[in-house]
Formats: sequence, C-alpha cells, structure tokens
Amino acid sequence: MTLFVSQSSASVSPVSTGETLKLYIDGAFVDPLAGETFANINPATGALLNQVARGESADIELAVHAAKRSFEAGSWAKLPMKARCQKLRDLGDRILARRDALAMAETLDTGKPLSESLNGDIPRAAQNFHFFAEAAAQLSEECFTVDRMERHFSVREPLGVVGLITPWNLPLYLASWKIAPALVMGNSIVLKPAEWTPTTATLLAEIFQEAEIPPGVFNVVHGFGTAGSGEALTRHPEVKAISFTGETVTGKTIMKAAADSLKKISFELGGKGATVIFEDADLPNAIETAVKAAFRNQGQICLAGSRLFVQRSVLAEVLPQVLKQVASIPVGDPLQPETRMGSLISAEHYEKVMRYIELGRQEGQLLAGGTRLTQPDALAKGYFLEPTVFINLSPQSALCQEEIFGPVLPIIAFDTEEEAIHLVNDTPYGLSASVWSQDVNRCHRLSQEIRAGILWMNCWFARDLRTPFGGMKASGMGREGGRYALEFFSEFKTVCYRYQ
Ligand code: NAD
Repeated sequence: MTLFVSQSSASVSPVSTGETLKLYIDGAFVDPLAGETFANINPATGALLNQVARGESADIELAVHAAKRSFEAGSWAKLPMKARCQKLRDLGDRILARRDALAMAETLDTGKPLSESLNGDIPRAAQNFHFFAEAAAQLSEECFTVDRMERHFSVREPLGVVGLITPWNLPLYLASWKIAPALVMGNSIVLKPAEWTPTTATLLAEIFQEAEIPPGVFNVVHGFGTAGSGEALTRHPEVKAISFTGETVTGKTIMKAAADSLKKISFELGGKGATVIFEDADLPNAIETAVKAAFRNQGQICLAGSRLFVQRSVLAEVLPQVLKQVASIPVGDPLQPETRMGSLISAEHYEKVMRYIELGRQEGQLLAGGTRLTQPDALAKGYFLEPTVFINLSPQSALCQEEIFGPVLPIIAFDTEEEAIHLVNDTPYGLSASVWSQDVNRCHRLSQEIRAGILWMNCWFARDLRTPFGGMKASGMGREGGRYALEFFSEFKTVCYRYQ
C-alpha cells in the first residue's frame, strides 16, 4: 500500500471508505441489532472514513453470551498454556505482517503522525502479544507441603468473560495491552473500543478470525460509553472483570456501575505528569526530552510531561532552548514523514484544549503557540494546534492542576528540592514524573517522595514490560503489565490434598 499519500487522498483507508465497520460477535462480523451506525471522521481532514455499527446493550448481551458459551465449551480456556502462548505469538506476527495497513488506519482515525503509528503504536501492539506469550510461559503456581502426606496447591484459573474498555489516544497499543494478558490466561473477551477510533479494533478482529481463534473468545462491540455499549458492558452480571483505560471521571462512573455485580476492576486513568529539571542536570538531554514528553502524540498521552518545573538558577538558560525546540516541531499533515505533531482527535477536544489556552492567556504569559494552524488549505478542516507554552501561571491554576490532554505546557520555576517535591505532588493525579539531575542521591530522595506510579530518572517513557504499570491517587487502581496483568486476569484456587 502507499504509505505517504497526500492529504487530498487521505480518505483512503485500509477498510474501504463507505464500508460499515461491523461488530465482531461469535466469530462473525455482524450488524447491530438496532441497525444504527455512526460516522467515523478523519480529524485531520474532516473527511468521512466510514460508518460504524452502533452497538447497544442488546449487542453486548449477544457478545457476552457468545463469550460465555466459548468459555464454558473450553475451546480456548482449556487449551494447554503452551498452545495459547503459541497462538499469541502467531497473533503478534500477524499484526506485524499487517503493520502498514494498521498504521494507516490508526493515523486516519486519530490524526497522529503516520511515522508514529508505523514505528510506535503498531510494533508495540505486536510486542504486547509476543511479550505476554513469554510472560505467561514463565508464570509459576505454588505448592505448600504441610507434611509428607498433605500438600496444598494454589493454581490460577481464568475469570471467565472479561470486559475491556479502551481510549482513543493509543487505540491498538492499549487494547492489545489488555487483550494479550486476558487471552493468554484463558478468558473470553468483549472489547469496547473508543468511539473515535474503531478501525484498528475491527482489523484486529479480522486477524483473530484469520488466526482461527475459536468463535466467541474475542468479541468487539463498537458504540458509545454512557448509556451505550460501554455502560452495558460494565453492568452486565456475567462479566467478571473490567479493565478500563480512560478519564478519571469515567472510572468513577464505571466503579459504581460495576459494584452491583462485584466485578474485579483495573483502572488506568488520567495523569498530570511532571518534568523536573535541576541545575545539575544534563541540560541538552533534559530539554530535548522535556519537549518530547510534552508534545508527543499532540500531548494526548496519559504519561505526558504536561508540567515543566525548572530550577530558577538555570531558567534563563533553559527557557530559550525549550522555545527554540518547540518552534522547530513540524506540525501538519500526519501522512508526511517529517511531521511530528498531527491533528487533535476531534472538534470537541480541540475546543476543550482551546478553553484552557484562553484561561492561560488571562492567568499567565503565553510564550509560544496558542493558535490553530489552518494553512496550507489542506490543514483547514483539521484540528492542528501549535505546541503551546506558558509561564507565570500559579501552580494552582487549572492549567497546572487539571489534565488538558493536549499540546499545552506550563513552565514553573522552583528554588529548592523541597519546593520541587511539593509542586510535583500538588495535583490530584499520581501517574508519572521525569526527574533530571546528575546527583544520584537527589534522584533517590525524589524517588521516595514523589507520589506517582512511575518515575523516570534522567529518561522518559522507557519501561520494561515486566514492571508493574499504573497510577496512584486519581490516576488509577491496580497495576497491569508483566505478571501483574496476568494476575489481574486470573484468580487463585487452593486445592488441599490429604494422601492416604
Ligand atoms: P474516556 O473516559 O472518555 O473514554 C474511554 C472509554 O470509555 C471509551 O471507550 C468510552 O466510550 C468509554 N466510556 C465512556 N463513558 C463510559 C461509561 N459510562 N461506561 C463505560 N464506558 C464508558 O477517555 P478518552 O477521552 O477516550 O481517553 C483519554 C483519557 O484516557 C485521558 O484521561 C488519559 O489520561 C486516559 N489514559 C490513561 C492511560 C493510563 O495508562 N493511565 C493511558 C491512556 C489514556
């Protein structure tokens, strides 16, 4: 396929334009029972990409029952672990084989640079399948010897039907992060992808069909959240667990909905990450990474460094270099290989981000960006926002406290280490922070004091997939990744043997 088509032909999609994206239930692509669809728009061009089947609670009912039937039949759950791991490797290989088409679909749905979909999102989705195949193969169970004639075993069993609900910012990357561990542990899955980004989930369903994963083991129900297929999934009594990634406020709603049927829950929620640059940092490296951390994926990453704290003694040195790098970020057509920032996801999201920018103009000083790019003409219908930098905002400003999830970076000066710790911790969120200092003792002190699920010392976004991933405070509940995800998607049964 042509990778770098021009913006005018950007309506070309791996799923033909005009084709309706169906639901995938019980191994077949089906229309929703009510026959309703919604439009999927390319946010970079405003062009209609496709219509999407609008699943509702009746479709969730079908999907959950298909999943339950497959689980009880044991066509997947009772396969030996080795066979399931083998299938996961095969799924990962198939994703890589369709990397170009999947990357194009991701970029058309999200507006993110194609280079990022090609080199980041899609290879990582394949890696998630490969990684969990290896991790599950290493998982051990326990045997407790009471005495020569009595042994107690603890064995892991799948939960049954699990519901996975995913956001639009890293669609296949995050869906595969949940699907792979849920699958390898023997569960049957109902996935509700974000309504803004339905295409790669549909292509993944095609891959599952080609790979001959038994019908009902993997189901995709498109649709909306509140009062839609998302909410129905969280309320369904046969769904034993919900793994959700999305906004904190949605997590609270899901927790209430899931309470009646006592579901197990895992939440990866919002963030307000910090980059902290001390005067003794490797400044060129720190500055380059701070800019990437703020603006990658148009700032729409939960782990973004969306607040930059700079020690006052180096502020005069750091500021011009940050601004120089920000000015050099190529913003524009996501299909061009040199583009580093594409379009925001939607009109609604663009308006939300602009409201923060207006507030920032009133409360602080705008140093860069702040406006929508509408030239050349090809960009006029997209939501291209210049990378935006503010200074002189109060740390209590909404721009420093709330998750904007866009390319907006407040810079705040600090004097002492204690002040930096206080500022970093002073938000409701606790997902991530990146600290830059060449003093290992200082780094160690900060690692003790910062309340966040992941801390990077002189780096950002690096993570061995074996480590636990998740947020503190309003950023989440539970941990996924490595054996922690395998544990979430299974439960222990203890069997006590007394031999004669
Ligand atoms: P969102 O909460 O609006 O939607 C996420 C998903 O939940 C979508 O599929 C949506 O349809 C569904 N949903 C919405 N309301 C629902 C309800 N009442 N019941 C069931 N499902 C419902 O989030 P978003 O705007 O798609 O994603 C952006 C958010 O995701 C940001 O807050 C970001 O920080 C967060 N995020 C967190 C992580 C992490 O690992 N912590 C990773 C990526 C994104």
